Amino acid sequence: MLLSIIVPCFNEQESLPAFYRETTAVLRGMDCTYELLFVNDGSTDGTLELLRGLAEEDENVTYLSLSRNFGKESAMYAGFCNTRGDYIAVMDADLQDPPSLLPEMLQQLESGEYDCVATRREDREGEPPVRSFFARLFYRIMNRISDADIMDGARDFRLMRRDMTEAIVEMSEYNRFSKGIFGWVGFRTCWLPYKNIERVAGETKWSFWKLFKYSIDGIVNFSQVPLSIASMGGLVLTLISFLMILFIIVRKLLFGDPVLGWPSMACIVVFIGGLQLFCMGVIGQYIAKTYLETKRRPHYIVSETNGKDVQKIR
Ligand code: UDP
Ligand code: MG
Repeated sequence: MLLSIIVPCFNEQESLPAFYRETTAVLRGMDCTYELLFVNDGSTDGTLELLRGLAEEDENVTYLSLSRNFGKESAMYAGFCNTRGDYIAVMDADLQDPPSLLPEMLQQLESGEYDCVATRREDREGEPPVRSFFARLFYRIMNRISDADIMDGARDFRLMRRDMTEAIVEMSEYNRFSKGIFGWVGFRTCWLPYKNIERVAGETKWSFWKLFKYSIDGIVNFSQVPLSIASMGGLVLTLISFLMILFIIVRKLLFGDPVLGWPSMACIVVFIGGLQLFCMGVIGQYIAKTYLETKRRPHYIVSETNGKDVQKIR
């Protein structure tokens, strides 16, 4: 039985040594063969040199180095496509995903009751309140409007059977939103809550704006509800305007036509104009996704690796 750990790394030179040390210590104690599959996502610091060094010293270390920064989603996909394990885990390089949970996760899987053990943070300590608020809002909206069922506070840290990984690799969409993909493929998932941990070193790569765009991606990738809202909104407004026209005609017939109310008219014109632009924007989001999907660009390009039989472009 082979346990594969996929670790996407982007500028992680500060936290990598600690990650390697702690994770290896846990894995050695686990009485199974393992492979650490690092994916260097176009780091501009010493991450790649560190990985080369680790691979030299430790035969359990494999690394894939991408030709530029493709983003965590693509880095994870590269990992999924090139793993050989029977059980596969994804872990961040910053030790926010405690390796000490691995034995328990493996035990859960081996009991045969589950196909996947996923972790979620039970609190959002150490996070700015604004960020927590929007995160919660996102999960609430997302679960209402899509059938990818997403757990609030779910992390990407999870251990799964090969079957599930294969299903994930088959979902080869270009715009990837892993939390949604994990939920969409289904399988029996066991949730393991744990207390939020700050990263050991370095900085988070997620600004508020990046997270906001990512959440829009999530919604557009897994729900058509915004399109329905746009068209329903259009329908309702058209009906209202019919009623208004009727009202104006009746008033004209009864009271003549004094020129009144042009400021409110201007407001209405601006309002409708704004709404139309917004709805076009919503439609545009979907068209843009379709455009990118139809190009069928590769998800990642590997420029350097110590692994054998690596799919270098996919
Ligand atoms: N990461 C990556 N490519 C990126 C951004 C991040 O591979 O473009 C990796 C990063 O090295 C880390 C993981 O994804 O291992 C999670 O990143 P981070 O800790 O910045 O996110 P957070 O934990 O704050 O959500
Ligand atoms: Mg982190």
